[in-house]
Amino acid sequence: MPIDATLPYDDSNIFARILRGELPSKTVYEDDHALAFHDINPQAPLHILVIPKGAYVSWDDFSERGSDAEITGFVRAVGRVARDAGLVAPGYRLLANVGPNSHQEVPHLHVHIFAGQPLGPMLVR
Ligand code: AMP
Repeated sequence: MPIDATLPYDDSNIFARILRGELPSKTVYEDDHALAFHDINPQAPLHILVIPKGAYVSWDDFSERGSDAEITGFVRAVGRVARDAGLVAPGYRLLANVGPNSHQEVPHLHVHIFAGQPLGPMLVR
């Protein structure tokens, strides 16, 4: 179900539970500000999710309320995950859904990294 990104943060969401260690994840990277793990239902040969460790519903919420240190740390982590996976030369795509029109399903900010093959047009036409 797409979520309403204007709602307050819900601490029971799947990614909050992964951050608390209540659910497993195939972690590829972790630091003070970010956790990266493989998407459970990959949409490309490589599909990684990067999430901030703080409680933010969406990119909108994070960009408004996140501290400079959290935002810097998270943006650097997204770049590092892709770089460490060798994705810069072949290329990759970043995507962050916000709210119902984007079909955001998990109400904790996540950036998708898609890679591993030519990814085609940006949106289904
Ligand atoms: P979005 O539609 O942008 O909210 O994307 C949510 C993503 O989370 C989807 O690509 C799901 O496959 C992925 N997902 C849901 N549950 C899990 C989980 N337990 N571990 C890893 N990825 C998940």
